[in-house]
Amino acid sequence: MAETIYALASGGAKAGIAVIRLSGPSAGEVVRALTPGAPFPAPRRAVRRVFRHPQSGRALDDGLALWFPGPRSYTGEDAAELHIHGGRAVRAALLDALAALPGCRLAEPGEFTRRAFLNDRLDLSQAEGVVDLIEAETEAQRRQALRQAEGALGRRCAAWAERLMRLAAHAEAWIDFPDEDLPAESRDRNEFEMQQLEAELTQEIEGSVRSERLRDGVRVAIVGPPNAGKSSVLNRLAGREAAIVHARAGTTRDVVEVGLDLAGVPVVAADTAGLREAADEIEAEGVRRARAAAAAADVVVCVAAVTDPAAPALWTDARAAYPEAAVLLVANKSDLLTQDAAASGIGGAAGEPVLFVSAQTGAGIEVLVDRLAAAAAEAAGAGEEAGLTRARHREAAAECLAALRRARRAPSPDLEAEDLRLALRAIGRITGKVDVEDLLDVVFRDFCIGK
Ligand code: GDP
Repeated sequence: MAETIYALASGGAKAGIAVIRLSGPSAGEVVRALTPGAPFPAPRRAVRRVFRHPQSGRALDDGLALWFPGPRSYTGEDAAELHIHGGRAVRAALLDALAALPGCRLAEPGEFTRRAFLNDRLDLSQAEGVVDLIEAETEAQRRQALRQAEGALGRRCAAWAERLMRLAAHAEAWIDFPDEDLPAESRDRNEFEMQQLEAELTQEIEGSVRSERLRDGVRVAIVGPPNAGKSSVLNRLAGREAAIVHARAGTTRDVVEVGLDLAGVPVVAADTAGLREAADEIEAEGVRRARAAAAAADVVVCVAAVTDPAAPALWTDARAAYPEAAVLLVANKSDLLTQDAAASGIGGAAGEPVLFVSAQTGAGIEVLVDRLAAAAAEAAGAGEEAGLTRARHREAAAECLAALRRARRAPSPDLEAEDLRLALRAIGRITGKVDVEDLLDVVFRDFCIGK
């Protein structure tokens, strides 16, 4: 890691201030080269400096310099930040000056955080948390990402790893010592602990679906017959023209997706082509995609027009059709109802609570948004626990669980110990810490003393 990397840490847009970040062995020299004659900045203090071109000595900008000596820096290396004016020419001048310095090169995407990981400043799950924090679009996503970036998931993994290590240490002890040296209850304790861990991991994996939804967005599908007003309802939800609203039946031939922020929970709402027998091939494809979107949805909004005589039957069938999803029944075009018809309660006939809305006038849309937000929050979880937020985590946890199950059924202590090591390694992959041997040494030491 001999190279010193630099990059514009703030975005590419014109702004009042831009930040250039530097990390690597010559970060200090770089600061010196850019601020000739000025005293070197004290660690972690912002100092005002005129930045000059290292060769010509020409002034480039007047800004702030910060010095973060390693290893107590973000990357673990010597690092610095230059706060400059955020204009295009200023940024270009500084970046050009850095490019001209020996041993300096532009950082690759994620390289600062990668170095932080390699220097043990954060674990893999934290690095992912940093990415998620930058990508977070909603409040609940931000909370979840921050927790992960702060190491909450890493700490839980460390706790699981420690328990697995103790289990492995005991199993290893049964290989090394004859049976009579060890009390039978220690075997029972191991068995109990393995059961316990198995139950916890199972629960964790089940719950991970919610954390993943919060990261990727809760999937909402808007279904219903053609012309029910699905596109119009989606447009109302999005507050903008997302799907083209047409009066002719079957115009929504593909699935239109809109990202929404419902009370902090990210939602991907899909307007599906009218679910009916398709008239032509293109429409048939639309219907197929609509079915797939609806089948995968966490929340299904079933829209029918109040004027549609088939509406009550549709609503009755909807819950059975989407057993895995939360289903909201919506009666659209309530503006077409006469007072009498409204009073007779068209949805009541099916015995299902139906939300009356009018995509045209906006009536009832607020209530629909509230219900949708509640259903989405339910599907995503509030993001309060430090769960497994990615498929990668879930796969590692599932592998750990499988190894643990094998260990419980293992015919001999050495096979049991081997499976426990595999379980440990699987958990280690979540945080990128797979130094199983070192950890075993530690536990063995404590085990032998305390035995
Ligand atoms: P989709 O096929 O289910 O997506 O239905 P659209 O959103 O394309 O709407 C079909 C037709 O119904 C269009 O002519 C809309 O203007 C009309 N429409 C949609 N919502 C309402 C509503 O709340 N009231 C009335 N009166 N017409 C509506």
